[in-house]
Amino acid sequence: MNTTLTVKTTSKTEFIEITGDVQKAIQPDGIDDGVCLLFVPHTTAGITINESADPSVKSDILMVLNKMVPWKEAYRHLEGNSPAHIKSSIVGSSELIAVEGGRLKLGTWQGVFFCEFDGPRTRKVHIRLL
Ligand code: ZN
Repeated sequence: MNTTLTVKTTSKTEFIEITGDVQKAIQPDGIDDGVCLLFVPHTTAGITINESADPSVKSDILMVLNKMVPWKEAYRHLEGNSPAHIKSSIVGSSELIAVEGGRLKLGTWQGVFFCEFDGPRTRKVHIRLL
């Protein structure tokens, strides 16, 4: 099973929860148990798993990432978006999630978030069920 989600972002930096979209994408496959690989094919975006119940958590993570990696610094990359590249490396480009009984085996409070660091853009998340 191999599919791709499209994610439209609306801000310079934001986290967009995609847990439901990933769950929907893996359902028709009929694989009850396995592993779901999520891969973001972008150098200024990423993917992470964290709390989805309280939206303040994603805001706090973004606030700290923005403090850790300031927009104004003596960056050499001419495109002017080095902070986005750096945040992408900090957060990472992939996640692996166990699938059991056709469901993502996430913890009660966990959600999957697409992380935009140089938006707004139209982005992709590749999904492979193994
Ligand atoms: Zn760049």
